[in-house]
Amino acid sequence: MKRATTRRQAIKTTAAAIGVGGVAIGTNVSQDKVIAQQNESATERSLAGKVAIVTGAARGIGRASALAMAKEGADVLIFDLAEPNYYQERGSLGYPIATSEDFAETQRLIEAEGRRCVAIKGDVREYAQAQNAVQTAISQLGKVDILHANAGILPRVAFTKVTDTLWSDCINTNLTGYGNFARAVVPHLIDRGEGGRIIFTASTHGAQGSNERHVYTAAKWGVIGLAKSLALELSSHSILVNCVAPGFTNTGMANNDEMYGILTENYNNPNREQAIKAALEMNQSQNHLPISWVEPEDIAAAVVFLASNNSRYITGATIDVAGGLNAHYTS
Ligand code: NAP
Repeated sequence: MKRATTRRQAIKTTAAAIGVGGVAIGTNVSQDKVIAQQNESATERSLAGKVAIVTGAARGIGRASALAMAKEGADVLIFDLAEPNYYQERGSLGYPIATSEDFAETQRLIEAEGRRCVAIKGDVREYAQAQNAVQTAISQLGKVDILHANAGILPRVAFTKVTDTLWSDCINTNLTGYGNFARAVVPHLIDRGEGGRIIFTASTHGAQGSNERHVYTAAKWGVIGLAKSLALELSSHSILVNCVAPGFTNTGMANNDEMYGILTENYNNPNREQAIKAALEMNQSQNHLPISWVEPEDIAAAVVFLASNNSRYITGATIDVAGGLNAHYTS
């Protein structure tokens, strides 16, 4: 008890020192409970006993994050549209998204880790579906501790070619979808009184301008603004809200014919091999790490860190996992 009191004082002092008003002490969060979690043995899996929701988990960063959290002991509800041609048919995207088979594979991989996994096919743009996902996690997995809102699309088009459909698909998937899941989960996290983690996948496009990716860029700047605002509003409940900002990452969003064409516009007959070479040359010419792209597992490692007690005093932050591209801008 004496130790807990000392730790409580330390938290209070740290909170005051970093200027975070009203953090935790004397609020509806049990600090002793939070401190007890923080004292868990370092050898335990960092997310043992936790329940996470991951959107856009059929493939790419979402799959890597869901799997990494499962390996660290979390049960996971995965959520994805899994309709490969949906946006292309509406003219709002130039590459196919994930399939039902991709989604089933994510579930299989999580269950192979011995963790429980509930898979829901749905659309992050619909608030009612976000509410249903949270309620399903509570009824089937017992609770929610962690939200990783991640589903996204990357339309690329000249500004004069932006249609109403492209505009609303891009903003509603990349920004409103994050807000929908946060709105659905926050009341539960507050009611439980045990803190919680909300992690948004932003982008390096959320901190700089971007040719022909204006709508996406606007959405990702919005995501970072939403995270910072929620970090302040939810600090008294020990709910931490942060972003990961991937650079160019080896997923279906970057690893597709449309992107090969963009990367290799100076080549004849662009193909994947040339695109990988061109991406490496581009990074080297700008003094980034000498890689073609970041792997989704690198983003997932940052997500696990932000979901674990190792990041207990980090909120309102954005972690760039971008091979140095981020060193060009102020964040
Ligand atoms: P990805 O492989 O295309 O994965 C995105 C996932 O989001 C897909 O599984 C897609 O599944 C899902 N999704 C799209 N719209 C949805 C909707 N309305 N409702 C539910 N799920 C939906 O791309 P990724 O690279 O892993 O992207 C993950 C996140 O990282 C995105 O937010 C993206 O903006 C961000 N990011 C990526 C990069 C990069 O270079 N790859 C860089 C910076 C940031 P369906 O096909 O089933 O809809």
